[in-house]
Amino acid sequence: MAGTFNFNVVAPDGQVFNKEVEFVVVPGVTGEIGILPNHAPLVAGLGIGVIRYKDEGVDKKIAISGGFMEVANNKVTVLAKTAEKAEDIDVERAKAAKERAEKRLQERKPETDVVRAQIALQRALVRLKAAE
Ligand code: ATP
Repeated sequence: MAGTFNFNVVAPDGQVFNKEVEFVVVPGVTGEIGILPNHAPLVAGLGIGVIRYKDEGVDKKIAISGGFMEVANNKVTVLAKTAEKAEDIDVERAKAAKERAEKRLQERKPETDVVRAQIALQRALVRLKAAE
């Protein structure tokens, strides 16, 4: 199909998405990266954030918690640590994770791993953003 490219998202549990799309915007570690058809070859590290893409004219979202993207031969492959399509996100679970992380960061007990709690909070916030 003209004006599209293959977009493939894989997480450790298996494939999350694999279809022709019109564009993709991914959360690169140094900022958002937009991909249109016939993009130049590229490898980039991804952060915790929301992937946006257009699927048959409809804007869609996937939450990821870091990984890598390869762009080559009109094909975009994302290897993510975790990835959930917006409609598959358990909002109550993400809210609970957010509250747990916020509580840990507020209490700051000596045994609290602050960085771990901050990263968990980021994952939860991104899931809630993707699902909204
Ligand atoms: P929790 O504390 O709720 O487990 P977490 O951020 O620690 O959240 P992860 O370790 O990032 O969870 O993910 C573990 C697995 O659960 C992954 O497969 C991820 O896609 C999935 N997952 C995590 N949170 C959600 C959610 N809110 N909705 C759907 N799937 C989720």
